[in-house]
Amino acid sequence: MSIIKDFLLQLTLMAIPIFIYFTFVTEKVKSHKNRKVIMSVLWGISIFFCMSFPVSFGQNARLDLRIIPLLFGILYGGFWPGIFLSALIILYRLYLGISMGFYTTVLTLSISLPVLLYFQKSFARSNKDGRVKMAVGLSFFYVFTGISIFGWFKGFSIDYLKVQMIHLIFVLAVTWFFTMLNETIKEIHQLRSDMQNSEKFRVIGELASVFAHEIRNPMQVTRGFLQLLNDPELPEKKKEYLQISIDELDRANEIINDFLSFGKPTVNNNERINAGYQLQRAVSIIQSYSLNHNVEFKTDILENCWIYANPQKLNQSLINIFKNAIESMPAGGIVWITCGSTEDGYIIITIKDEGIGMTKNQMERLGSPFYSLKESGTGLGMMVSFQIVRSFQGKILVKSEKDRGTEFIILIPRVA
Ligand code: ADP
Ligand code: MG
Repeated sequence: MSIIKDFLLQLTLMAIPIFIYFTFVTEKVKSHKNRKVIMSVLWGISIFFCMSFPVSFGQNARLDLRIIPLLFGILYGGFWPGIFLSALIILYRLYLGISMGFYTTVLTLSISLPVLLYFQKSFARSNKDGRVKMAVGLSFFYVFTGISIFGWFKGFSIDYLKVQMIHLIFVLAVTWFFTMLNETIKEIHQLRSDMQNSEKFRVIGELASVFAHEIRNPMQVTRGFLQLLNDPELPEKKKEYLQISIDELDRANEIINDFLSFGKPTVNNNERINAGYQLQRAVSIIQSYSLNHNVEFKTDILENCWIYANPQKLNQSLINIFKNAIESMPAGGIVWITCGSTEDGYIIITIKDEGIGMTKNQMERLGSPFYSLKESGTGLGMMVSFQIVRSFQGKILVKSEKDRGTEFIILIPRVA
């Protein structure tokens, strides 16, 4: 029973580094070199525990799976991880006491390390099947060398061979299994990042075509009016045409601005900021605009609403929403703004107007590029706002009733 327990422990020691690596390291650590260092340390720890808690057969047969972390360290890491892990094995074995086992370990390593390192290059180039075969082959070579050397010192008894055969088969099966596991997880990760990339390109391509179309409209209108200005018959209309031209150019400019900021939120330069303070600031920025439209802002903002975000981007998304609220009330009205915190760890910002509201259908389309019901709208404001808040790991909820008003609810994770 205790043998099975020992074997299971050894298996766990193989699995833990792989899962730690793929869960915590691949996504977060971008530098290739740092990843190698972390992986080597993880395999080092695994080797340390493997050798500390071996499977004991009878009195002097102590077996462990140290070859597997070593093998993975070399095949996936290369030369230096290989040297580091080998040195670790020898030093730790030395610490455990100089005996037959120590000499066997040193000899086995000196013979098999060059072979493992030699095959590392072709391993890196192989496909999944080739890698699995190579890993199993190499671990066979290592264990076989170990068995031969030990047997050469001590003689080959039937009992010794029996135990070693079981060990060999076990090592091969485990190597096969973990190489498969490692390769499969890697494949899934690769697939996911490929998909994210192709999705990005698809969106960019789609936007670019709509963008070109949208930008052409104001340009053509402006061009038409500029042409009319050439007509000497219409001097009193000059002013009006000029104004229209300027307006249209402004609109083209606005579209470009909104569009450019769409790509930016992917850059992560977030910091710890006070959402309440930012909200207050955004309100004072929009003040002159709102007074022009007979709109009053009423605020109820809690101090100490700390979030992890980029202040300029938060500001931009708030202003977009404020502007929509103001524009939804052509005859003026009140916009209520609150900021507080929820019990489940979010900062909640609400922006409520008493404007024209939206139907279900309109709400569904909100946030899609160039969706606008306004004569001079860009239809990019909400798309940008959604994206910005998403980049803070937050979300925007919308409640709206036609002719009653709209409420935007922004939830962003709170930080201490
Ligand atoms: P734009 O403001 O340039 O039209 P937006 O993306 O900011 O583009 O908004 C898209 C559309 O969503 C608006 O044209 C409007 O129809 C609708 N909308 C957004 N906010 C509100 C609101 N507070 N009340 C009513 N309708 C809104
Ligand atoms: Mg808008």
